[in-house]
Amino acid sequence: MPKAKVGKRIHLSPPHMSGEEWKYISEAFQSNWVAPLGKNVDEFENEIAAYIGVKGAVAVSSGTAALHLALSLLHVKAGDTVFCSSLTFVASANPILYQGATPIFIDSEPETWNMSPQALEQALLEASREGKLPKAVIIVHIYGQSARMEELTAICSKYGVPIIEDAAESLGASYKGKMSGSFGEFAIFSFNGNKIITTSGGGMLVSNNVEALEKARFLATQAREPASHYQHKEMGYNYRLSNVLAGIGRGQMEVLEKRIQKKREIFAKYKQELSQLPEIRFMPELENTCSNRWLTVCLIEQNAIEKNRDHLLKVLTNENIEARPVWKPLHMQPLFSRNRFYPHVQDHVISEQLFLNGLCLPSGTSMTLEEQMRVINCIKNECSGI
Ligand SMILES: *Cc1c(COP(=O)(O)O)cnc(C)c1O
Repeated sequence: MPKAKVGKRIHLSPPHMSGEEWKYISEAFQSNWVAPLGKNVDEFENEIAAYIGVKGAVAVSSGTAALHLALSLLHVKAGDTVFCSSLTFVASANPILYQGATPIFIDSEPETWNMSPQALEQALLEASREGKLPKAVIIVHIYGQSARMEELTAICSKYGVPIIEDAAESLGASYKGKMSGSFGEFAIFSFNGNKIITTSGGGMLVSNNVEALEKARFLATQAREPASHYQHKEMGYNYRLSNVLAGIGRGQMEVLEKRIQKKREIFAKYKQELSQLPEIRFMPELENTCSNRWLTVCLIEQNAIEKNRDHLLKVLTNENIEARPVWKPLHMQPLFSRNRFYPHVQDHVISEQLFLNGLCLPSGTSMTLEEQMRVINCIKNECSGI
């Protein structure tokens, strides 16, 4: 039988320009203030800081660079340990390696899929007994859902360990009325192409510690001392964001609320159409929190006849629909095979279960209703047969 022609590709979360970006970009061009830094960078930083409700922000070339600077500001160095959520993208932990330090991974808990307070407590208890507390705890807000910040903050402050929030995926999400990224000593955002807003590539470091942010600016510009000749006492980096890309960011900020609303609508539609299927469960939203629903993610229950997550993934791929498994937990990655890991409950690793059954569905804000119905019908056809 000839295979029916498949439809146009539906991507997971492609960039979505608003058109507002042009005015800021052309301003930069007209004033020839393309690089370095400039007004767009300053304004983009101010807009993000005001939106999050923190005292300052530093625009950098990526979320990874922002995280690296945060670790550097907390004096993380060779021989140190840093705790990190296991269920995340590798960029959450790579900067720990850049500093020569050792990541220790913490499992998820079932309701937010983010860092388990009880696993963190256990890890900190053991670390303090061994006399070697971590220099920082990196808490990730996965897929736009805030972690249990109240519990996690209480535990970290009990041991006096600073928090860095990896809010790369959670711009615009809130927890008990406070914005994601306003809880930690530092927080980072990413404006990579797949994130809820994008500068094509870029990131932001935010904090209430303005002195530390000044230091971050210094480190991110090759640690150049104030002298007309080039004077250096410390090792620095070339991490600042260009004024042109910051212009894209300002244009994207104008539509951020719209994007969040759209992401939540996409989720609501999937849920409305698919939640009656017994084998599908959607990622929860913790009480008193608002997820930005960066990606709609669901769990596919395993069953006997091999129609599981991987089967559904294959079917969607054949229909030219981009879907993906949930992040492979970092403690399962070969890169980190020798690193310690603390499960939520002994012999019951939540993040591994989420990885095994979790499926990220196309969630691009430029996706049409027809396109989303194509995804939905494809899943319905498969699941009704289970
Ligand atoms: C995208 C992402 C990053 C890295 O951001 P880049 O801007 O791509 O460097 C870090 N952490 C998480 C959880 C991410 O999703």
